[in-house]
Amino acid sequence: MRTLSSDMSHLSGQHFTRRVVYPMAGIMIGVIIVVIGFLILSARQQNQLEIEGSTRLALTALQVKAREVGRNLRDYTIRPDVHEHVRDRIDLDWAVTDGNIGANIYKDLGYEMVFVVAPGDKTLYSLIDGVPTKMDALEAMPRGLRDLLHVAAIQPDPTTSLIKSGNDVYVVAANGILPPSVDRSSINPRDLTMLVFAKRLDQKFLDRMGHDYLLSDLTISLDNQFGKEASIPLLTQNRMYLGTISWSPPKPGNQLLGFIVPPLGLALLVLAAFSVLVVRNARRSTSALEESATRVSHLAHHDALTSLPNRVLFRERLNVALAPAMATSTSVAVICLDLDNFKEVNDSMGHAAGDQLLQQVAERLASCVAYSDTVARLGGDEFAVIQIGANQPHDAEELSRKLIDGLRTPFIVEDQILHIGVSIGIALADTKDRIPERLLKNADIALYRAKQGGRATYRIFEAQMDAELQERRALEYDLRQAVLKNELELHYQPLIDLEHQTVAAVEALVRWRHPVRGLVSPADFIPLAEETGLIVAIGEWVLETACSQAMSWDRLRIAVNLSPVQFRNRELVETVRQVLQRTGLEPDRLELEITESILINDTGAALDILNGLKALGVKIAMDDFGTGYSSLGYLNSFPFDKIKIDRSFIGDLSDTEKSGAIVKSVIGLGQSLKMVTTAEGVETFEQAAFLRQQGCDQVQGFYFSKPVVAAELSAFVERWNSGNQQTRTQIEAA
Ligand code: C2E
Ligand code: MG
Ligand code: MG
Repeated sequence: MRTLSSDMSHLSGQHFTRRVVYPMAGIMIGVIIVVIGFLILSARQQNQLEIEGSTRLALTALQVKAREVGRNLRDYTIRPDVHEHVRDRIDLDWAVTDGNIGANIYKDLGYEMVFVVAPGDKTLYSLIDGVPTKMDALEAMPRGLRDLLHVAAIQPDPTTSLIKSGNDVYVVAANGILPPSVDRSSINPRDLTMLVFAKRLDQKFLDRMGHDYLLSDLTISLDNQFGKEASIPLLTQNRMYLGTISWSPPKPGNQLLGFIVPPLGLALLVLAAFSVLVVRNARRSTSALEESATRVSHLAHHDALTSLPNRVLFRERLNVALAPAMATSTSVAVICLDLDNFKEVNDSMGHAAGDQLLQQVAERLASCVAYSDTVARLGGDEFAVIQIGANQPHDAEELSRKLIDGLRTPFIVEDQILHIGVSIGIALADTKDRIPERLLKNADIALYRAKQGGRATYRIFEAQMDAELQERRALEYDLRQAVLKNELELHYQPLIDLEHQTVAAVEALVRWRHPVRGLVSPADFIPLAEETGLIVAIGEWVLETACSQAMSWDRLRIAVNLSPVQFRNRELVETVRQVLQRTGLEPDRLELEITESILINDTGAALDILNGLKALGVKIAMDDFGTGYSSLGYLNSFPFDKIKIDRSFIGDLSDTEKSGAIVKSVIGLGQSLKMVTTAEGVETFEQAAFLRQQGCDQVQGFYFSKPVVAAELSAFVERWNSGNQQTRTQIEAA
């Protein structure tokens, strides 16, 4: 049988991983990526800000330098003595020797080049590193200086530009030499003599600038190579590219990263470890929870004793099987099973044995069905199967035969061999009628018919069974009323002692005088009374009535039939004792007739009751001997006082020799076991004569008297004993 729990616990792990672990891990990874991304971005931004800041600083530094050069230059160009000594030619003594524009400019102000350029771009004076040379200014700075001079000539203040000379770049300032005392407008700018100062952007200059402006690692390159992260281009006034100053700005972002990343990494690691722990714990408790949910669901859907699906799950599966979607593809049979002798086992051997038996039955049933079928225990000894078969009713019939065969093999419970039959009712779902309740009810009706049909058999539901069931219900209702309204009566049939030609006993046989149906035979209503349990009340009434009736007959024994159902109740012994006490009948005048069926499972309980009855002093007769199992073992296991040979053998006496042989041997058996033998159903003189010849002790049958009312029986006994009865004379003669 399918068990879902293992599948489900397996699924629950996956389920948990899918529903909890993946999203959590996703969120964690997402958060980590966002945090790291944010850190990197802000570090980059910080770095960028730093680059921009230091670039601004570097530009400022250059501008400041240019302005400084300009300022220094201006200090000279406005001096009247400069104006005086520098005209068409320069007074070298004044300039160099007196140190007015000489080495001091290089030493004190740090300008590597000084030029004095007269109108017409004529170099009057060159000073390189403080030493006068013959260098032509425009040759020293072939590109840029001419333009600068022209621009500077028309500006009152010094004009600066970056200009390349050889392999170096210079901050160059130019200004016309004109003291404030001279009116500028009176002079043509072309006629101005220009003074030029040039400051070389060499490493020394850069180191100084780096020191002043906190820019580290400043370098200059004249090719297009940007070696470092931060740089500014060196452009002439005409925006011509000369080279680049580059430097390594500090990277506060990287510092920040270096500062934050290790503890953050550690924190993330701890968080990850913690999450793993939390997830593992959660997973554990979730699976524990799911496991217990699965267990609860299993308990709710399965029978605790047999682990088979219970009524709830059975109904669920039946609903699924009968769902409209399945209507065309499958054909469903509901098979109801009821164990034939379970109640006897349960009553006589106790519930523990009954439980063991049910477990074994469940195993056998489960082993008979296909995987797609469902076997369920609906309660007590009721089981049911949902069979999905393509070929109904053939499949259901085949399965039913298999189930009946499967349960036919005896069971061993508490070292006892038990024979348990099973009765089966089948209901088939057709395409129109797929209502679960109706299907179950129909299978139940068919089951009832199977039981009536002699058990260990199956029946398929047919519409008219329902009508018959209604009829049975009506009969049951009537029977209950009959018990209440005293509609039952007893008829009596004599048992004739063949040897002494006396009426040895009378058998009480119950009759039901139904206001509409007329006289109903016990064969028709005793089974119904047994099924409904009414037999207990009826049996007690019969016993009481028969015993008190017997009190009015001198010395006659009274035989009363007991149903196997009455035997299930240990109270029986007490009931009989009380009836004897109430009616005052001597116990040995009471014969209780039982059938073999109460001993079928040879259970201790039935024997206990029999012994209890025997102890009261009543006689016990084995009724209908020869039908049923007729195990000689039964005769051995209990000292019966009488065997009643079933009337079927007697009826067959004239037809088959076999019956004669059986009757003979049963009589012989009775004699050897010291039991009285009675033959039932004697209808002819020949039968009676044959039985007498064989040594049968008693006879009973229509040949002598049908069952009659008490008054009639009294008359019969009187006639018989007085020898007036014709039958008696014939028998005596025989
Ligand atoms: P049984 O105990 O074997 O009773 C004998 C049956 O055989 C009676 O049928 C009786 O009418 C019938 N019978 C007697 N002589 C002849 C004969 O010559 N030919 C034929 N064909 N039948 C004959 P009845 O009264 O219909 O009872 C049927 C069965 O119902 C009884 O079989 C007994 O098992 C059961 N029964 C009757 N009364 C009671 C009762 O009060 N309690 C219980 N538990 N069962 C009863
Ligand atoms: Mg009887
Ligand atoms: Mg009988």
